[in-house]
Amino acid sequence: MDQADPFGFIGLTYDDVMLLPGHTDVIPSEADTSTRLTKRISMATPLLSSAMDTVTESRMAVAMARHGGIGIIHRNLSIEDQATNVDKVKRSESGMITNPVTTTSDATVEEVDLLCGQFRVSGLPVVEGDGKLVGIITNRDMRFVSPFERSTTLVRDVMTRMPLITAPVGIDPDSAVAIFAEHKIEKLPLVDADGRLRGLITVKDFDKSEKYPNATKDDEGRLRVGAAIGFFGDAWDRAMTLVDAGVDVIVVDTANGDSAGVLDIIHRLKHEPRASHVDVIGGNVATRSGAQALIDAGADAIKVGVGPGSICTTRVVAGVGVPQVTAVYEASLAARAADVPLIADGGLQYSGDIAKALVAGAESVMLGSLLAGTAESPGDLVFVNGKQFKNYRGMGSLGALQTRGKKTSYSRDRYFQADVPSDEQLIAEGIEGQVPYRGPLSAVAYQLVGGLRQSMFYVGARTIPELKERGRFVRITAAGLKESHPHDIQMVVEAPNYRR
Ligand code: 5GP
Repeated sequence: MDQADPFGFIGLTYDDVMLLPGHTDVIPSEADTSTRLTKRISMATPLLSSAMDTVTESRMAVAMARHGGIGIIHRNLSIEDQATNVDKVKRSESGMITNPVTTTSDATVEEVDLLCGQFRVSGLPVVEGDGKLVGIITNRDMRFVSPFERSTTLVRDVMTRMPLITAPVGIDPDSAVAIFAEHKIEKLPLVDADGRLRGLITVKDFDKSEKYPNATKDDEGRLRVGAAIGFFGDAWDRAMTLVDAGVDVIVVDTANGDSAGVLDIIHRLKHEPRASHVDVIGGNVATRSGAQALIDAGADAIKVGVGPGSICTTRVVAGVGVPQVTAVYEASLAARAADVPLIADGGLQYSGDIAKALVAGAESVMLGSLLAGTAESPGDLVFVNGKQFKNYRGMGSLGALQTRGKKTSYSRDRYFQADVPSDEQLIAEGIEGQVPYRGPLSAVAYQLVGGLRQSMFYVGARTIPELKERGRFVRITAAGLKESHPHDIQMVVEAPNYRR
């Protein structure tokens, strides 16, 4: 060891620090929580959902983007399944659907039912082989086809045929709304001069735009979504398939981002013309030099966290990691100079930890356990002694690393164990467990962002950059932490934002 004062470098985490209150004229409801996710992408709320198989698939990603954050689709899936998840998010809400799901006139009503269920839509344009629009089939057309006739009734027998109300590609939103109102229709196909289908606008998407004004959207009005990749094996094919599916951000998601394979794939992605519109997040690191390595490789944002996660055992299995507030601060020394946003990943237990992460140097936070209990996370409710829970497991837990009948586990290279020949030889870096069910994401996100707004009020910060500038820490002791939580009382009612 070659360190002048080997034990002089103290690592602090969320429970070790508190933000100082300051003079304020900020009203919580007026605080602006918008922030940068990457060099090019902004969001209204600084929240990401973790790329974990018990946290983020398409349903969570849709909900996160609607509430102004973003979801990162996990990678313990085949390339096709992960791309399908991305595709579902991109189609879920948009000003215009550029590549609508379609059917043909000789498909059966049963097949249309299946597609509608899979993509959660209520009807499909009907096209011929060359893409020419010949009609549309919606719930209205299929309502009176009995369950027994659905497998034999053809689309051509029940669809509404051309001429339909259509519009040219590039129609502006106000004109589209006027057409919906005038013709009392709900779907407006967009066609080119030859009558070929080029897009679709649905009235539902306008309703949602009004309902979710803070949604994180791309330039075409589609919800944004991220997806995780590794660096090993078919990682490049995975990345390119995700790009084709319309992903906005690729997260090179590993337990140690400061490694040749990770830096190399970030560098390649940043030089790939096909992916030039997609931002790349690199991670994870927990030091200044780690962050600098990702910056030098070209990362558009850096994810920080080695071992803080609630399900993570890296720090005890390997004895490696940096307490998270210090890790974020150290990484920020490199990131601030390069103007690259930081994401504080893992270890947040309460809404108050969000502001601490931002003041320490992050632009946003990534959450696993705080979101795993929501209705939108993958997996069913589990009942234990009459109480509701959801399963939550580390991506380095045995369950996630094992192949269990699958050809492969796609998350092994996150822990640099892609070469391990059998399940018995795996070294786990995470555990499996359960978290209390917390209801819909909307309620949980509201409390988390509400907590952040309160932090901004106490610090006297109108915006996230102001919070970062004005925020000051005080270090606390074990006694201070004890004082911070409810004490000397038997808690009988849990608050929606406080559980023990
Ligand atoms: P949480 O919000 O639950 O405290 O932490 C979630 C984060 O932990 C994830 O975003 C991811 O970075 C990290 N993580 C997920 N699974 C594992 C694991 O099995 N081991 C380790 N070391 N980290 C994990």
